[in-house]
Amino acid sequence: MKIGEVAKRVGVDVHVLRHWHDMGVVVPDRAESGHRIYTEEHIRRLRIVQSCQSVGMSLAEIRLVLHRDEEGRAEIIDLRLRWIRLQRAQLEDAEKFLEHVIGCTHDFLTRCSDCTKYASKDWSANHQAGRADSLMTNNS
Ligand SMILES: [Zn+2]
Repeated sequence: MKIGEVAKRVGVDVHVLRHWHDMGVVVPDRAESGHRIYTEEHIRRLRIVQSCQSVGMSLAEIRLVLHRDEEGRAEIIDLRLRWIRLQRAQLEDAEKFLEHVIGCTHDFLTRCSDCTKYASKDWSANHQAGRADSLMTNNS
């Protein structure tokens, strides 16, 4: 399948596919004419790239996820897993807080012990764990 068809099928611009190729994320085959040729396997990879991007992963990280033998792969995946778990915990906490707030009868949030409990949470560890991207940049 040629790059134009692939772009339509996965819903990205041709220049994005070229960029992902240049970055070594999804490297298509080459026809004798020099045109990029994508197989169904490439399409599946492209869809994984899109899913990973939609949750905030960088191309450098995604490249590691897709290529089993890359150095530092396990560490980066582990870091991203920790970040995802912290994000989930933080979101669940925000959900509980908002579920409470909608029915909270205190005139100010600060007068309610349940509301202030939420404000006292320290999520700075989350920002630490989110540094996967900066680590990647330092490594390359
Ligand atoms: Zn409250």
